[in-house]
Amino acid sequence: MARLLEVNNLRVIFRTYRGIIKALNGVRLWLNEEERLGIVGETGCGKSVSALSIMRLIDEPGEIIEGQVLFEGTDLLKITEEEMDKTVRGKKMSMIFQEPISALNPVFKVGFQIAESIAHSSEISMGDAYEKAPEILEMVGLDWRRSMDLYPHELSGGMAQRVMIAMALAVKPKLLIADEPTSALDVTIQAQILQLLDELVRVGRNAVILITHDLGIASEFCDRITVMYAGNAIEISSSEEIFEEPLHPYTKGLIDSIPIIGASKVLSGIPGSVPDLIAPPPGCRFHPRCDFCFDKCCVELPDLKEVKPGHFVACHLYSDSF
Ligand code: SF4
Repeated sequence: MARLLEVNNLRVIFRTYRGIIKALNGVRLWLNEEERLGIVGETGCGKSVSALSIMRLIDEPGEIIEGQVLFEGTDLLKITEEEMDKTVRGKKMSMIFQEPISALNPVFKVGFQIAESIAHSSEISMGDAYEKAPEILEMVGLDWRRSMDLYPHELSGGMAQRVMIAMALAVKPKLLIADEPTSALDVTIQAQILQLLDELVRVGRNAVILITHDLGIASEFCDRITVMYAGNAIEISSSEEIFEEPLHPYTKGLIDSIPIIGASKVLSGIPGSVPDLIAPPPGCRFHPRCDFCFDKCCVELPDLKEVKPGHFVACHLYSDSF
């Protein structure tokens, strides 16, 4: 499959009254057409900031200070805001946001908001788009007769998430970014939403970036996984390999902390907590929590290197030069 997206050396900061938060510290990731990439990691590791940067939705006090976001070969960081709106955002790329209720416009009915997405992406009149809205609502399992005239505050969490998915899919994007699409939902609705995403992705043949802190969901849904820690991509591999043979000490810690129903596994957490990104540790940002830390780790940031075909890791344990 051809490369659809390639993010290189992406650096994002947020200027706050406490100081400058170095939220992304040279992130690298990529995605092929029709591929499903999971981005996993603890809260604050940079998953959502990466997604918002790809969509060019980083607002003040945030700033993308360096990097490349190549989408179909075009660097999205170099095109104008108008080009981004007219040709990429809401056309070739769409996003399901973490908080569906707050991402929907509270003053417009569901039918209008879906029609607006269709009209924007297909460049058809609102009247024509409105006629297509029921079909999209049915696709995500909502009764259009009931849902079209509801306002966002009248939706349950599961319905709001379905409306968000409908709006994202109405544009038939080449790349769908789903940021924790199931985090606010109970497990039954979670399963329904994932099944729905799976079906729609298979039919629409679009690529997906699924952002989640839930490794179980990522392993079921994704072809490949990028593990992030404190603003860096620290391990990238196929889903199977990352669960069977994780290499980075942080990835191993994350996997060892997942409970498995019925297994007599001793759960071990990762000691310490995520660093303050205003003053992150020098060298490898994971070194204060790592059992394998040695001198070089405290001074030199490890590069992301391919250590096995298709398996990349940023850790000095796997560098040739120590
Ligand atoms: Fe641990 Fe060093 Fe590898 Fe960082 S580079 S994960 S501190 S061994």
